[in-house]
Amino acid sequence: MAVTASRARGAIDHCPAWVRATLRCPRCKAVLEWENGQARCGSSGCDLGVFPVTECGQPVLIDFENSVVSEEGVVRSKPPGDRRIRFARGLLRSFRTISTNVSGVSNYRTLGALLEEIAEPRVLLIGGGDSGRDVRSRLQVKPSAEIVNTDVYAGPFIHLLADGHQLPFAAETFDLVIANAVLEHLLDPAVAVAEIWRVLKASGLVYADTPFLQAVHMGAFDFMRFSPLGHRALFRSFKEIDRGVTVGPMSVVRWSVEHAAKCLFRSRRAGWFFRPLTLPLGWLERYASRTPFALDACSGSYFIGRKSSRTLSPKEIVAAYKGGQ
Ligand SMILES: [Zn+2]
Repeated sequence: MAVTASRARGAIDHCPAWVRATLRCPRCKAVLEWENGQARCGSSGCDLGVFPVTECGQPVLIDFENSVVSEEGVVRSKPPGDRRIRFARGLLRSFRTISTNVSGVSNYRTLGALLEEIAEPRVLLIGGGDSGRDVRSRLQVKPSAEIVNTDVYAGPFIHLLADGHQLPFAAETFDLVIANAVLEHLLDPAVAVAEIWRVLKASGLVYADTPFLQAVHMGAFDFMRFSPLGHRALFRSFKEIDRGVTVGPMSVVRWSVEHAAKCLFRSRRAGWFFRPLTLPLGWLERYASRTPFALDACSGSYFIGRKSSRTLSPKEIVAAYKGGQ
């Protein structure tokens, strides 16, 4: 079965040989068999059979029966476009958002430094989308680093389509898994974290940046929020390296004013008129985020951890609270 997606000029090479060798059936984890560029589950007892492939050559390794995404919705691809157009769009996006990320840059540098001792680090992005193209430079990793970008929709910078609940990779494949603003979009984030644990090598690293006090985004595909301690508890089978605030309390106020205006005036655009009024709060974000109180009232938090054979006990999770109460 071939699914339609426009061929993207200048897009990345999809699914290089080493990635193919690590791919498994998302449902039964059997080794895949390849024929004419299409993968098939190698287990005769599995119902998934032949997996679709986009016109760009990306395998669609999603078990649609057990996913919130549907086959029709995931395969539309768009070309990467001219670099200048991408830059202009990025600039426009930065004006449109009012979230100030106070730790993203330093977190990626920390991860890059942790990967330094590995000769050919392998990195998996879950839900990396278009922003996945920048991860190599954000991590500042060596050229030998291999980065695999996955998402639930086709795009020019996606290697293959996968659902975080059922990662289509062999166990112990990656040195680092990144889930940046992804876990809130999963029906069962704990299942995805177990999958992250499975595909990580011994002592492999995880980085997750997940919302806490944020309104719904992406409509029906937004299911979960985590307090910073709840986020830590989600990764209880990982040894903590660092955690903290990514988007602080000032962004919470700014978004709340905008959403309140939408509700009062029954208009999406009404919220935009209030942005200039709250702009000075954004300037205070870095200062406001450097206190334990911010952990109790942030818009989002991050966790950096190392795969462990030991799981935190419930009382150890309670003792890990670092907020201001
Ligand atoms: Zn299978």
